[in-house]
Amino acid sequence: MAQSFDVIVIGAGPAGYISAIRAAQLGQKVACIESWKAPSGKGALGGTCLNVGCIPSKALLESSEQYEHVLHGLKDHGVAVTGATMDVAKMIARKDSIVTKMTGGIEYLFRKNKITWLKGHAKLAGPGGDAGSRWNIEVTGDGSVELVDARSVVIATGSKARHLPGIAVDNESICDNIGALAFKDVPKRLGVIGAGVIGLELGSVWRRLGAEVTMLEALPSFLAAADESVAKEAWKIFTKEQGLDIHLGAKIGKVTQGKKGVTVEYELNGAANKMECDKLIVSVGRQPNTDGLGAEVAGLKLDARGFIEVDAHCRTNLQNVYAIGDVVRGPMLAHKGEEEGVMVAELIAGQKGHVNYDAIPWVIYTSPEIAWVGKTEQALKAEGIAYAVGQFPFAANGRALGHGDARGFVKMLADAKTDEILGVHIVNTHASELIAEAVVAMEFKASSEDIARIVHAHPSLSEVMHEAALAVSKRALNM
Ligand code: FAD
Ligand code: NAD
Repeated sequence: MAQSFDVIVIGAGPAGYISAIRAAQLGQKVACIESWKAPSGKGALGGTCLNVGCIPSKALLESSEQYEHVLHGLKDHGVAVTGATMDVAKMIARKDSIVTKMTGGIEYLFRKNKITWLKGHAKLAGPGGDAGSRWNIEVTGDGSVELVDARSVVIATGSKARHLPGIAVDNESICDNIGALAFKDVPKRLGVIGAGVIGLELGSVWRRLGAEVTMLEALPSFLAAADESVAKEAWKIFTKEQGLDIHLGAKIGKVTQGKKGVTVEYELNGAANKMECDKLIVSVGRQPNTDGLGAEVAGLKLDARGFIEVDAHCRTNLQNVYAIGDVVRGPMLAHKGEEEGVMVAELIAGQKGHVNYDAIPWVIYTSPEIAWVGKTEQALKAEGIAYAVGQFPFAANGRALGHGDARGFVKMLADAKTDEILGVHIVNTHASELIAEAVVAMEFKASSEDIARIVHAHPSLSEVMHEAALAVSKRALNM
């Protein structure tokens, strides 16, 4: 007799595992199918985010930042340190133990919420019982094939690194995110193809530990999705202060592996160039995991790039089948997938789920961090929306000076007529935390004057948000 569930979630990344927990909280009988295996060969929950994405990359960013701080950040405080060394194996082991702790935490949450974990690869197998109103799913595990069925299905199969034709990723010399999070030692010369979020974060990790980093970016502009003034400030800091050697408008040619490393031939401004490196990271975006899912068998509609087509409530073209997270349109961010997971679980339970796609924060965990929510200035111009700008630098903030890192600014964009906040952009070491105030403000449709009238603790970095809000109506107090 096949196992039957109210809800089956396919994929236990942040979108899927959160959806499974919320559905279980709402009284559904839930199973989650997950095929991921940890390097030990054991099944693992958590998807890209916990195993080879957000969590391990942030662990390495922290370790490498601490090291760089000991080397260069303490002198001004009067602290002299000699003989500081970096034990890469220990740093990687620490990262691995955080991953194990976090993925084990989801196993605990599954047990707590009575969610059945079906280990294996899921394939949609067409309509099932109750006059075809249920869905059959085939689960292929280690040496076993099982058919299960559910009334509702949530597809949360995520994404994988996009690779380039002719560049064979072996995760030894030529790596995607998986290999780049597990180098055994610091490469002397690190090449990166794609100066996007992963390239900048992982490039920063290995640069801080001593690698000479060269990045080849296809686009002629840097950080095209960010506000132009943020991208300009970040460019200045990353290239001039930190020495990341970034080439924009590069056209990648032949890539060869030899005894001495990897050679990347590329064209820049019409001229032929070569980059020699010991390790190469390929970080040119990600693609949805829809292959082997049985989309054709079930009649599930995909777009031309393989993403599952969904409406604003993550409904697919199939009755009671939803899709969430990286496998559907929208930013490939863990928190976006999580909120979609909650939304669909609530819809399945007959509640009114909703995600506000206009208030999703972005964070790039470089040093300083970059964070934003809402529209950029160039988007407002393109859409013909009249706006006012308030910008305030951390250089005029006592807490930032005390920290020893007063780089960056807060820039607030507000509607010229209504004063509603339309976007907030931050460059600062703690931008990932500071952006939360702007997200709450936008969610509540606050005006810049609302933030200007809120009491912010002194001395704190949040005062810069306050001053940026005051600056929208040209009344910053400390400048
Ligand atoms: P995934 O996390 O990819 O999980 C999908 C799961 O489905 C996987 O476990 C997979 O094994 C499983 N699966 C797929 N197909 C099947 C099948 N047919 N049967 C069974 N199981 C299947 N985002 C942020 O918000 N903040 C960050 O700081 C951040 N850092 C990142 C750093 C790196 C290096 C990378 C690569 C990504 C980062 N991201 C970050 C993006 C984030 O990891 C993704 O947006 C997020 O993991 C998407 O969640 P998901 O649940 O949709 O998919
Ligand atoms: P990305 O889209 O951020 O950057 C890819 C870069 O590669 C782009 O700048 C693109 O122009 C460039 N590129 C594409 N093809 C190229 C080519 N042939 N030659 C040279 N450059 C080329 O993608 P990513 O860095 O791979 O990260 C994937 C996704 O993972 C991100 O979009 C993001 O959604 C997510 N992520 C988020 C975080 C975070 O939230 N902090 C961190 C890492 C990853």
